[in-house]
Amino acid sequence: MERLLLKNGLIVTMNANNEVIPEGNVLVEDGKIVSIGKDAPNKSDIVIDCSNQVVFPGFICAHTHLYSALLRGAPLMIDPPTDFTQNLQRIWWTMDEALTLEDAYTSTLYAVNEMALNGVTAYLDTYSGPNSIEGSLDRISKATQDVGTRGAICFEATERRSYEEGIRGLEENRRFISQNAPEKTLVHGIYCLHAAFTVSDELIHKTNDYAAETNSFKTIHTSEGMVDLHHNLEKYGKRTVERLYDEGFLGPRTALAHAVHINKHEIDLIAETRTNVAHNPKSNELNAVGVAQLPEMIEKGINVGVGNDGFIYDAIENMRTAYLMHKLNHRNPSQLPTPLQVVQMITINAAQSIGLKDHIGSIENGKAADFTILDAAVLPTPIHKDNVYGHFVYGSFSRRDVKRVIVNGKTIVKNGVHTSLDATTVSQQSKDSAISLWNRLDLTPRIARQI
Ligand SMILES: [Zn+2]
Repeated sequence: MERLLLKNGLIVTMNANNEVIPEGNVLVEDGKIVSIGKDAPNKSDIVIDCSNQVVFPGFICAHTHLYSALLRGAPLMIDPPTDFTQNLQRIWWTMDEALTLEDAYTSTLYAVNEMALNGVTAYLDTYSGPNSIEGSLDRISKATQDVGTRGAICFEATERRSYEEGIRGLEENRRFISQNAPEKTLVHGIYCLHAAFTVSDELIHKTNDYAAETNSFKTIHTSEGMVDLHHNLEKYGKRTVERLYDEGFLGPRTALAHAVHINKHEIDLIAETRTNVAHNPKSNELNAVGVAQLPEMIEKGINVGVGNDGFIYDAIENMRTAYLMHKLNHRNPSQLPTPLQVVQMITINAAQSIGLKDHIGSIENGKAADFTILDAAVLPTPIHKDNVYGHFVYGSFSRRDVKRVIVNGKTIVKNGVHTSLDATTVSQQSKDSAISLWNRLDLTPRIARQI
C-alpha cells in the first residue's frame, strides 16, 4: 500500500459544503483519498509540500473534440462560413471524413497532454470519423492512457450519410463499453449521438436501449445552432429538447452539449429530468451561434459543466469566459454565475456532467486522488478560504501556475512538464499527422506558398 501526503496546502475541497481548509493535509492510499484535515499522519511514502499552493480537485472538461487539434492553423481555402451549418459542412464534416485511426491517436495524445499541462485530469470526448469508425476508441484510449488522465470517450453516431453508418458508430461505442467498465479503467466508454438533426427516432431508441443495458452515460449536441431547432420543428413539430424528451433520451445519465437555442419549456424539461448540460462558451463565441441561457439554467437547479468543444484546451480560460459572457449578455455585472459556481463547473459539476460524480470532482474521502495544484507564492494580495474563488476568476491564476497534476495518486505533470512524455516528440507526431491530413484535404498549395 502506497501512502501519499499532500501537506500544508490551501485545500479547496469542492464538497457539498464548499469547505476550504487552510494549511491542510490530504492523505492518499493506493490512489484514493483517505483523510483530509489539519492533522498529518506520522508516516507516508511520499510527502509533497504544498506550502503557498492551492490544491483543487483535478479540473474536468465536460465536452471536447480532441481531433480538432489537427486543424489548428490549417489554411482552409474555403469561402468563410456565414452560419453554423456551413461551418459543419465546409470545415468539420470535410475534415472528419479524412481522419484515420492514426490521426485519432496522435491528436488525442497531443490534446490530452496539453489539457493535462493545463490542469485537466478528466474529459468527455466525442470522436467523429466516418471513415475511421471501428477501433477508433481503442486508439483514443491508448493515447489517453499514455498521458495518464481519465477519459469518457465515444464515437459520435450520425445518420448524416446513412442509417447503417449511424449503427456502426453506435456499435463502436457498445463494443468499447463492454470491454472498458468505468470502475476498472481510467478510460471508459459512453454513448453519443451527434445531434437530433442528424439522427432518426429509431437510432435514438436503439441508443437508449443499449445504454440501459449497462447503465451507460449518453451525450448529444443539442440546439447548438438554429439548424437543429428548425429541423426538429419542421420534421417532428417539436423543439429539440421536446423531441429528445418524448423519445426518452433525457435523464441524469445524459448530458446535452451547448443547449443554446432552447426556450423556458425546454429548460423545465431538462430540470425535471435532471439532465446535465455541457456549456461551451468560447466555442459558442467562435461559431457565433448565440449565448446559452446559463443563468436561467442555474436558477432552475440544472447541473452545468464547462467544456471547450475542441477550441482552446484551457479549463481556466473557458471557466473565465463562462463567468464573463453572461454578465455582458445581460449588461449586468451582478448576473450569475458567481465565482464559486464557475469553479464548480470545471470540478464537481463537470464530474456529474460526464457521469463520474461518485468518483471525482471533489476532494472527499473515498474519491480518486486527482488533484490540480496551483502556485500561489507571488499573488498581489492575500489568499484565504473566503476569497479563493474570486482570486481564481479575477486573474490570479492561469495555466502557467499549474504546479503539479496528480491522477489516481500519481504525479503526471510537475513544474509545467509531463513526467514521462516528451513534449517535442508529442508535437512532432501531431505535426506529421496534420501535414498528412492537410495533404489529403488538398490544402498543400497554400501551405507551400506560406512556407
Ligand atoms: Zn461538440
